[in-house]
Amino acid sequence: MKAPIKTKPLGPIPAGYGALGGELAIGGRMASDLVEAAGKTPLFVYSRAHLDRRVSELRAALPPRIGVNYAVKANPHPAVIAHMEPLVDGFDIASSGELAMTQAAGIDPVRVSFAGPGKRDDELEMAIAAGATLNCESEGEARRSIAIGQRIGKQPRIAIRVNPDFELKGSGMKMGGGAKPFGVDAERVPALAQYILAQGADWRGLHIFTGSQALSADAIIEAQGNVLKLAAKLADEIGAPLPKLNMGGGLGIPYFPNDSALDLAAVGRALHGYVADLPSALAETQLCLELGRYLVGEAGVYLCRVIDRKVSHGTTYLVTDGGLHHQLAASGNFGTVVRRNYPVAIASHFDAEADDVVNVVGCLCTPLDRLADQALLPAARVGDIVAVFCAGAYGASASPAAFLGHGPAAEMLV
Ligand SMILES: *Cc1c(COP(=O)(O)O)cnc(C)c1O
Repeated sequence: MKAPIKTKPLGPIPAGYGALGGELAIGGRMASDLVEAAGKTPLFVYSRAHLDRRVSELRAALPPRIGVNYAVKANPHPAVIAHMEPLVDGFDIASSGELAMTQAAGIDPVRVSFAGPGKRDDELEMAIAAGATLNCESEGEARRSIAIGQRIGKQPRIAIRVNPDFELKGSGMKMGGGAKPFGVDAERVPALAQYILAQGADWRGLHIFTGSQALSADAIIEAQGNVLKLAAKLADEIGAPLPKLNMGGGLGIPYFPNDSALDLAAVGRALHGYVADLPSALAETQLCLELGRYLVGEAGVYLCRVIDRKVSHGTTYLVTDGGLHHQLAASGNFGTVVRRNYPVAIASHFDAEADDVVNVVGCLCTPLDRLADQALLPAARVGDIVAVFCAGAYGASASPAAFLGHGPAAEMLV
């Protein structure tokens, strides 16, 4: 008798994906149809229906007072940015390249705010000339922005990114609390704001980002309460109202086995409570959240093709034409400590019984290139299509596409 082969669980497949003619369907189209339309694998498919639904869920849960910004770095595909244009209130960017992408999508720069450390003078100039808001990350950056504004004869729109003394608990990537390259330490913000006001810049308020990829509503609610308290205290110390407060985001999506979806309704209820009871310093302040992966992560699926099926020492490998050069995060090499399986499926046999245990790997010549370990999946042959879910954020643009020369994946919005 053969010893049973050990399996490792897969992450949860996001809601809204089903089978059509036995295959995975995205946006009502079969996987094989999408691959044919793209003319190649690997392929990222982004679903309009998922993007629309996620924004509607947010609008229904959040108080109308709180706007939704899209953090472009999560997925800067031109069709995705253009699709988000009428859906969200603002766009958060982190480079002049992303500014150009929003401009190409016809987005008014007045809706754009530019955060990120190490903004070059030419980037500051481009943003000031366009009328985007600069979320200044340091005193030096604020001084350079004001000098550039004077040189080109345009009043810069300036907010301050605050480095708060607290962070979003359980956050995948911590970006606040203690020494950081991001933002201005909270105790130095009032003096800098007064300087910005005295220089005649267009004062836009504060940006407080406390972390990313949190699945705990309690942690998010606590961080948002702390953000509002800190913003009110700083507004009092500055002695001028805050036109705007970007409250950060950090709403996460489930990627791995045992991750459960964020309780958005709970976050919404808490925000209704906060908004009903805002400190007077924030009474006139425009509020927004900035979200990347929560808006786009579950809307994307990465499709790649099985090129080889082989056995080594009793382990079956599905070798695909995809890999970490497009899906670094799914390989476990983008900010995770322990490698766990993303949600993966055999797109060609989406509703078939799972009775085969395989390791799904990419085509790169490195042992790091793994897409699923010891996965229980329907049997797949050479030519079949594999789907990796949760590929809508930090996929194509956050993976080393030049590594090993296979080139970029195709991308398509359906
Ligand atoms: C990366 C980033 C975001 C988006 O984070 P998500 O986890 O994708 O929501 C938002 N704001 C700032 C300042 C960021 O650096």
